[in-house]
Amino acid sequence: MSNGFYKVPAAVNEPVKSYAPGSKERELTLNSFKEQYNTQVDIPLFIGGEEIRTGDTKDLFPPFDHKHKLGVYHQADKALVEKAISTALEAKKKWANMPWEHRASIFLKAAELLAGPYRAKINAATMIAQAKTLHQAEIDSACEFIDFLRFNVQFMTQIYSEQPASSEGVWNRIEHRPLEGFVYAITPFNFTAISGNLPASAALMGNVVVWKPSATQIYSARVIVEVFKLAGLPDGVINVVYGNSAMITDTLLASPDFAGIHFTGSTGVFNSMWTKIGQNINNYKTYPRIVGETGGKDFVIAHPSSCAKEVAVALTRGAFEYQGQKCSAASRAYIPASMWPKVKEYMGADLATIKMGTPEDPSNFVSSVISESSFDKLAKYIDQAQADSDAEVVFGGKYDKSVGYFIEPTVIVTTNPQYETIKTELFGPVLTIYVYEDAKWSETLKLVDETSVYALTGAIFSKCRYAAIEATDALVNAAGNFYINDKPTGAVVGQQPFGGARASGTNDKAGSVLNLLRWVSPRTIKETFVPATDYKYPFLG
Ligand code: NAD
Repeated sequence: MSNGFYKVPAAVNEPVKSYAPGSKERELTLNSFKEQYNTQVDIPLFIGGEEIRTGDTKDLFPPFDHKHKLGVYHQADKALVEKAISTALEAKKKWANMPWEHRASIFLKAAELLAGPYRAKINAATMIAQAKTLHQAEIDSACEFIDFLRFNVQFMTQIYSEQPASSEGVWNRIEHRPLEGFVYAITPFNFTAISGNLPASAALMGNVVVWKPSATQIYSARVIVEVFKLAGLPDGVINVVYGNSAMITDTLLASPDFAGIHFTGSTGVFNSMWTKIGQNINNYKTYPRIVGETGGKDFVIAHPSSCAKEVAVALTRGAFEYQGQKCSAASRAYIPASMWPKVKEYMGADLATIKMGTPEDPSNFVSSVISESSFDKLAKYIDQAQADSDAEVVFGGKYDKSVGYFIEPTVIVTTNPQYETIKTELFGPVLTIYVYEDAKWSETLKLVDETSVYALTGAIFSKCRYAAIEATDALVNAAGNFYINDKPTGAVVGQQPFGGARASGTNDKAGSVLNLLRWVSPRTIKETFVPATDYKYPFLG
């Protein structure tokens, strides 16, 4: 019963805590880090209300200390993936009919748990699993995740209150049904917030979900599961499986009840899933929703009128925070020749002060990259740049995987605007810079637009308003999130809805009404109060 048009609490962005020395939050999070680091976990699959331990386990290690075992997680076989589907469909019978305000309450409660009693735990788990510093964990697994949950509740009510006009004697209504079937949420390693949001946003709209987190994020995903359970999410609404990604995906996409995919990750993986969906299209009961936010090769271009210091800081933060492993990270930059000596000097001075190491030491600005395969790939590109005549490694360039997968923040300057590292997504702390002739501003904008297949984020720096307008026009399709005089990272839910086009995804803007609209199937209801009793229209007479 919903005898009221309820107003949800107004969503506000969760304030970012400072973690300054002596602060309570710093003490709590570092204590939780220690405690979790020294406790072995045994992470089951979560299907329905059951915790399933198959005995087919994989070890978990923090990427910054790969000899320190954190515990294990259990892998699903095909039968368990199928069980996750049937369990979700069974749960749908009640969940899809639950009044919206109760669904809202569950996720608002989850937000409050994350903001309060679970903040330290989820931040510390994210620091350990994904090698995030205190600040990077706070803006991800606490603030962004909380914002997703709170704002999505508000967006849901916006969608539900969007109603058609009615003419005399008629009442037109639209109800926003959940999709018929289940949603497959498949999430990346780099944001705990995204990991939680992809299953939660679909579930909020009344859908049931099978969720497969990235193997390197399972450790922090377990805290999300705990929070959702404590918030009162009924069993079977979000079912969590891990194991062989290809097998899990093939099994889920082969189901006639597959109704949509909510993906964030690399372009190649998304393309392979879209291909499989196409191959299975005749088997599905309904056309599935395909939502994917994928790779990027995000740019910064400075106009000669811009300020060298501002550009240098944007590059240092934009390219190297979280080791360049944000989909939005600046990974290519275009600097005018007149400005380059100053930008280089400022960046060099800043990079010389940056410390790298365990996230447990708050004075470290950066930590390790996520995995050995990522480390090896990045090291290869750096070695190649050292050898190539059209590239020069001007900062960083050292790497060491003896303890963790550490790669120094590295800047490559190339004289070749089509150089490999200025085109390809590397997903690590490597920035490639092309120095252009000041007079070639307009040509360089074209270069920025055409160099990469991606179109996720991009930033221009300019004190000249005409140049800013020219860049905004010339780069209209080069980025889904475009920044003027700011770094291209750090989008905030409710303020800068996030997503890109071209090879960067379907641009369904996570953390906005646009995304939630993908998880509903509207039904239009026309009710006539006094139906006609004579088939003849007046014009017949
Ligand atoms: P990834 O593509 O390697 O993994 C994403 C998910 O797909 C994981 O759950 C993984 O286990 C699964 N997967 C991997 N290979 C698979 C296969 N063959 N079949 C089925 N599933 C498979 O991505 P990642 O390394 O976790 O994350 C980094 C990527 O995500 C980067 O490309 C980054 O740009 C992108 N990203 C994009 C956004 C965005 O909003 N556009 C946000 C975050 C990350």
